[in-house]
Amino acid sequence: MQQVKAYGTENPSTPLHELTIERRELQPHDIEMEILFCGICHSDLHQVKADFGQYPAPIVPGHEILGRITAVGNHVKNFKVGDLAGIGCIVDSCDHCEYCNEGIEQFCEEGVTFSFNSPDKVSGGHTFGGFSKTYVCNERYVLNMPAFENLAAAAPLLCAGITVYSPLKHWGAGPGKKVGVLGIGGLGHVAIKIAKAMGAEVVVFTTSESKVEDAKRLGADFAVLSSDADAMAAYTNKLHFIIDTVSAKHDVNTYLGLLRHDGTVVLVGLPPQPLEIGAFNVVMGRKSFAGSNIGGIAETQEMLDFCFEHNITAESEIIDIQDVNTAFERLDKGDVKYRFVIDMASLAS
Ligand code: NAP
Ligand code: ZN
Repeated sequence: MQQVKAYGTENPSTPLHELTIERRELQPHDIEMEILFCGICHSDLHQVKADFGQYPAPIVPGHEILGRITAVGNHVKNFKVGDLAGIGCIVDSCDHCEYCNEGIEQFCEEGVTFSFNSPDKVSGGHTFGGFSKTYVCNERYVLNMPAFENLAAAAPLLCAGITVYSPLKHWGAGPGKKVGVLGIGGLGHVAIKIAKAMGAEVVVFTTSESKVEDAKRLGADFAVLSSDADAMAAYTNKLHFIIDTVSAKHDVNTYLGLLRHDGTVVLVGLPPQPLEIGAFNVVMGRKSFAGSNIGGIAETQEMLDFCFEHNITAESEIIDIQDVNTAFERLDKGDVKYRFVIDMASLAS
């Protein structure tokens, strides 16, 4: 085992602080990367706050991990020392069930291993995320990072990007489709860019007045302040599909009402509390309320290549690791446009 510097915490009431974790020695199929940038997703915040339940200590968040390969195991085929690479949410799976064979490892029958706070089937204990100097991972779960001009701004694609790309593709965002994006945060702002690049017409719904104009700058065709009842009513029965990225409890019935017949509201946000759905809001118009969880490894690579081709990255505010607690507080208040990214070089200083 190697001792590695990281940032994490033991419980929700203790701020994140520097600590030491252990990374496994390289296995034949493993790569080791030095982490250059790591995005901060609202899922990191949910987990640190124990929104989804208590966790084994310590927790080291971070699952939008971009770095440079520093070592490769004997059997590694696709990477060499010096390559840029990415690690997203998935770092292990059984690799032989129906789902893994189909490339949807996130639904692995034996349980997928997430990049942090997940039982570690190789080393025991649980996994530690990207708020750290290095990561060690089987190359099967490592992404080739295209040569984005702004590498820091590309890191968030590894979770935010794939989480919206996968449902946009699955539900057929494209020419002739009117797609709604609910919530303009880390996921939502990338969803606007990707849905536009796919050729859809994009309507954004936000609770923040300051984001209405910004949504158009990001590429949305129309932006609606959700507290404006008249503006909302104008979209009744108009949209084919809505991607819901809201992180807190909210009324999804309003948005079911904006769908055309056979339309779908796809939830990717993870409000910790259950949401209620009125029967008539789905029965009338044969509407669906669905969910989607990140995306598989092959689709994540496809998304990275798509974003590179279409010049899509996240609008990022770069911070030092020492400012991570302030960043979490600001993310909690919705005070970020639109993704914090940690410059991991700051961990050395
Ligand atoms: P974020 O940057 O905090 O964005 C969430 C946005 O939701 C906010 O910017 C805000 O947008 C809106 N919002 C927040 N509270 C609201 C409320 N009470 N009512 C209405 N709107 C509200 O978070 P993120 O990183 O994009 O993540 C969004 C959610 O997706 C989180 O729950 C996260 O855990 C989850 N997630 C899921 C997956 C998956 O695979 N399913 C992957 C990654 C993240 P406006 O200001 O525009 O209203
Ligand atoms: Zn995430």
